[in-house]
Amino acid sequence: PHGQSVRCISLGSRQQLCGNPQVRRLKHVGLMNERCLDMATKKSRPNPSKKSRLSTEANSRCPFKAAPLVESLRDLALNEPLDIEELANEGAACGGCSYYASRSAVEHAQLILLPYQLLLQKSARNQLGISLKGSIVIVDEAHNLLDSVAQLHGSEINRQQLERAKVQISCYKEHFQKRFNTKNLLKINQIIFIVRRLLKILDQRKENQPNSSSMMRTYELTAEGDFFNIDLCELLDFCARTRFARKVQGHADRMEREPRPSENQPPVSTARSLILQRLASEQKQKEKPKPVKRKAEDIEDKAEEFQEQQKPPRKPVQEAAPSPIRPLLAFLETLTSNAEDGRILLDPVGGTLKYILLDPAEQFADIVEEARSIVIAGGTMQPTQELKEQLFTSCQDRLVERFYNHVVADDAVLPFVISNGPSGASLSYKFAHRASPEMLQELSMLLRNLCQVVPGGVVCFLPSYEYLDKVYKYLEQSGTLETIRCRKSVFREISGSAEQLLDNYALAIKKPASGGALLLSVVGGKLSEGLNFADDLGRAVLVVGLPYSNRQSPELGQRMQHLDAKLGPGAGNEYYE
Ligand code: SF4
Repeated sequence: PHGQSVRCISLGSRQQLCGNPQVRRLKHVGLMNERCLDMATKKSRPNPSKKSRLSTEANSRCPFKAAPLVESLRDLALNEPLDIEELANEGAACGGCSYYASRSAVEHAQLILLPYQLLLQKSARNQLGISLKGSIVIVDEAHNLLDSVAQLHGSEINRQQLERAKVQISCYKEHFQKRFNTKNLLKINQIIFIVRRLLKILDQRKENQPNSSSMMRTYELTAEGDFFNIDLCELLDFCARTRFARKVQGHADRMEREPRPSENQPPVSTARSLILQRLASEQKQKEKPKPVKRKAEDIEDKAEEFQEQQKPPRKPVQEAAPSPIRPLLAFLETLTSNAEDGRILLDPVGGTLKYILLDPAEQFADIVEEARSIVIAGGTMQPTQELKEQLFTSCQDRLVERFYNHVVADDAVLPFVISNGPSGASLSYKFAHRASPEMLQELSMLLRNLCQVVPGGVVCFLPSYEYLDKVYKYLEQSGTLETIRCRKSVFREISGSAEQLLDNYALAIKKPASGGALLLSVVGGKLSEGLNFADDLGRAVLVVGLPYSNRQSPELGQRMQHLDAKLGPGAGNEYYE
């Protein structure tokens, strides 16, 4: 009933909201972001009917971003509450960009619905122009709030990304060397130096301790890499100011698209046309009012733009690997954080360097400070001790806790643990055993038996998509799937799919004379949170294996140690067990 009186907007990623089919084809969200930002820097053609020889679909501005379309889409979205899918559909229908429409609606909205990563990261909020001052912040499904804050402020980079970053930055430097001023050249050299040192550390560790990963503090890494004396904050500031990541990626893309000498391409321009082009550009330069002072970055930008104009038309957009520069900069940024708040996990076998945030309090502090009130809501919040002590120590006096009964009455739930399979074998679904033929056989018999006796819907949650594939294959090969299908329709979650699958599952159950349906799903997947398998949709729920974290993992060990040190002995065990 409040829909008409509240201006509400839903924010999503480009992957959810982008309407440009060319960009959507890229699938990977990093590539989509880069492509969209890349298109935003292109100049629109003054007369669209006059097609420039150099203009192609791939290097022109995105037609979905036309201001009138975006504005009308924004007004429509503010007028009636739309969820992400509805907003994307409206954009597709009118040919406007739902992504930018939703962003431009932020300043007018009274209620903003946004994912964790946009709410919990200060940089994302700043970019969107969201101020939490005086706001009421509601965090739903907040049972994993601590982990989410830690994950969002962690970062990881691997050997391949470092290698690619080294090559791309070196090529970029070589290409534009003469145009950089000494200050910028120094910064670029510093980045290359750091990348080389990180690679060297990975190589040395692989040689000396090939089988053991190690934890270190941020300053230990910078000392071992011998770049402790480089001011990383200044370096990151330089990268942000000069849009370094985008420039390097743009240059790398251009290099990839350039025809190779062996391809024996005809010359792009004749000598005559080159002279004419130069004369025309000189004339243009003369006509332009001279700026008082041009920044070095502007000059570099122009130089790159000009060089790009000299290139042959681009090949159609192809799926490429996402830029390695952004993960590199994200990793360097984590090295500037408080040394006691996190650790670096170095894995020489996997060739990765991972920053793990141990203390999420600091990253959450500004939300606590700015918001008028914060509502943390969830169905499985208890125990709340760690959450309170880690995120709200500074405002214990403002905390109010309320607990409500579960929506399902106690006498309507019958939870039990199955420790032996139908053949009597003891069940073990630890990582090492779960794919064994015995465990797969026990599980398939169990599913078959359950489906025989349980009416309506049966939902089975498996530990991972990979394991779901194995189980499904086994069910197919053993003929169990056929047996189950005689009674129930079988559905299986595939990474990324959800809505359509859920609709089909519900339809299959509601069909007259239906024996119900079996839904094979994944813990932590799209169907495991925020959905209500009411009544016939979930007459039985089977969880295979307990989704506990791996106790042996060095990351978990470090987190537990940190909790012990901060909250007292045993706190880590209590939280993670
Ligand atoms: S402007 Fe909008 S529609 Fe166009 S590429 Fe970017 S996100 Fe996609």
